[in-house]
Amino acid sequence: MSKIRFKAIAESAKRESNSIQEKGRRSALFCVNVFNAEKMLQYLTKDALESVQGAIFSGTKIDRKIADQVAEAMKGWAISMGATHYTHWFQPLTGSTAEKHDAFFDLLPDGTALEKFGGGQLVQQEPDASSFPSGGIRNTFEARGYTAWDPTSPAFIYGTTLCVPTVFVSYTGEALDNKAPLLRALHAVDEAATAVAKYFDKTVTKVNATLGWEQEYFLIDKALAFSRPDIILAGRTLVGHTAAKGQQLEDHYFGVIPGRVLSFMSDLEKECTKLGIPVKTRHNEVAPNQFELAPVFEEANLAVDHNLLLMDVMEKIADKHGFKVLFHEKPFADINGSGKHNNWSLATNTGVNLLSPGSTPMKNLQFLTFFVNTIKAVNTYEELLRSSIASASNDHRLGANEAPPAIFSVFVGTQLSRVLDELEGVSQGKLSPEEKTELKLNVVGKIPEILLDNTDRNRTSPFAFTGNKFEMRGVGSKTNCAKPMTILNTIVAKQLRDFKKEVDSLVDKKNLKKDEAIFNILREYIKTSKRIRFDGDGYSAEWEKEAKRRKLSNNKTTPEALKVLTSKESIELFRVTKVLSEVEVRARQEVELESYILHLQIEGRVLNELVYNHILPSSIEYQNKLIKNVMGLKDIYGAAHKKLTDGQLTIIEQIAEHLVEVKKLTDHMTDARKKANKLLDSTKKATAYCENVKPYFDQIRYHCDKLEQVVEDQIWPLTKYRELLFIK
Ligand code: ADP
Ligand code: MG
Repeated sequence: MSKIRFKAIAESAKRESNSIQEKGRRSALFCVNVFNAEKMLQYLTKDALESVQGAIFSGTKIDRKIADQVAEAMKGWAISMGATHYTHWFQPLTGSTAEKHDAFFDLLPDGTALEKFGGGQLVQQEPDASSFPSGGIRNTFEARGYTAWDPTSPAFIYGTTLCVPTVFVSYTGEALDNKAPLLRALHAVDEAATAVAKYFDKTVTKVNATLGWEQEYFLIDKALAFSRPDIILAGRTLVGHTAAKGQQLEDHYFGVIPGRVLSFMSDLEKECTKLGIPVKTRHNEVAPNQFELAPVFEEANLAVDHNLLLMDVMEKIADKHGFKVLFHEKPFADINGSGKHNNWSLATNTGVNLLSPGSTPMKNLQFLTFFVNTIKAVNTYEELLRSSIASASNDHRLGANEAPPAIFSVFVGTQLSRVLDELEGVSQGKLSPEEKTELKLNVVGKIPEILLDNTDRNRTSPFAFTGNKFEMRGVGSKTNCAKPMTILNTIVAKQLRDFKKEVDSLVDKKNLKKDEAIFNILREYIKTSKRIRFDGDGYSAEWEKEAKRRKLSNNKTTPEALKVLTSKESIELFRVTKVLSEVEVRARQEVELESYILHLQIEGRVLNELVYNHILPSSIEYQNKLIKNVMGLKDIYGAAHKKLTDGQLTIIEQIAEHLVEVKKLTDHMTDARKKANKLLDSTKKATAYCENVKPYFDQIRYHCDKLEQVVEDQIWPLTKYRELLFIK
């Protein structure tokens, strides 16, 4: 048995046994629906197995004959599990996943069935992709997008369909999805980090980026959700007065999970376990009806797939339980929205977490190397990292004092700051033996002890070091983690490449020892990336001012944030790391802008409909009821009615005033939309939507919510916050 194979199977067994300890009975279900190492061992020939493992661990290509064998084996396993169809499961730029199902069987003219799923179907499929966003790369009339198997993410059975995770590329090889660039970024960071890790341990041959996401979401009753056109079409409430009770009592956070929700969660976890998603924690979140689910971290590509799969599974299981799950970043006003923290680190094939301090000074120098290089990378490319989490829906959260600001900074904590400050003072060039000993034993050597009691955490930081990983906190709950993970791994890859070049050149030219060279370069990095370090309150107004002084970007809206994607520096970064070509970058920017425009367009239309078809008519209905009442009282009491109708008249007037405003603002919004629609340039159009259309939303809402407060409950046509938000 090859070493690789043995390792893979052992790893899978280890995971299984961990999960047995953690999950008891559920472990028997772990990965039953996944074509993992264990199943491969059972179903694949020796050649095929080695070829697939080679593809997984070393990125070698799988030849067509082997692909045929693998397809045959996968099909055999899938059919034995009751699967009837297969699909290439991919991540178009829309942000979610797509699939096109084909039956395993073809009917022959004589009525007999022929099984169809060979290597050809496994490695390549043409999913008539003309209607997926491509940012102009692929002319729609050509309709040629291909999906191709990603062997590093195992196939799985979902329902009765065998799903094969794939990349999605154009006929000319450009990436049309979120997975292909992610795989390229992971490859780039593997190469760069392996080269640097070899300074410390020659046996390292591979470095994996790891990702542990934490998914926040809302659950609301399905029937009630369907009574709200805004929730169904825009994913969030566009109007709705706050309930008398929101999250102010903080009684929901870590509170008892309602029975109905618990039953949903346990079904969900069972399904996830079968699909190999290692879900671990679940709890209530801050807002009413808000929850969080987090798995054990995994290799980043797999973790991304698992998050996308999870969101899909959640929607289906929620449906069965009479719930609608909301992934929107801000479904309700005045209570917290949802995010998705991305915990990230780098792990070697020798089992070392490169962002975890070790027991020896050398191990800690390794930790410092990766730690400081990450900080430097974020410092150089802060604006690009911000762009990776930009979306119409996430704009509601960033900077709204419930999620980190739109300004990127790095939190390292007071103790590590002190270590960095001490390192900054290291003298340049050669180090005396005493200096070296002092550094290694008293500065670097002390890091683990320092970290042991370093418990201060800063929830307001967008990029925080949390002991053995960095946590990216501004990622939106709907966002495909592939986007931030592609950028983060790309910038770290580039940084590590530069670092290696600089260290090697100091060793060669200045005749420094390797560790001296490393200390020298790190010291420079600590100096030059100081502006990105911030441990204070990220929500404060002072920070905004201070960040401006430090020349950090503060792009509050998506059109602003996306600009940097096509800057000279960004294009160069993507080119040298081979993550995206210039054509691909431009296409991506175009797709993101387009998506922004479409989201605001839909919201504008829905709001228009809510105002004209729901809010105006019901407010008028109630107003008429009051008018009738006033006239009746006048009939009865004559001139004396005034005393009795004062209250009614005030409400009639209030309604009239708000009605006038709502109608006027809605019409202005529609005019602004029409004007914006005429613009051809996407950046200009997105900016017009952002600056000229979006501001109306809140103004219209203000008057609608005032109307909700005065109009009779029975007449008000929209389900209210208090009805939507308190599941028992
Ligand atoms: P919180 O943000 O709620 O305080 P934690 O800081 O405990 O949560 O985050 C735990 C998350 O970090 C988990 O999702 C876990 O999978 C992830 N995590 C832990 N170690 C790593 C690592 N080395 N690489 C990536 N993610 C990790
Ligand atoms: Mg977290």
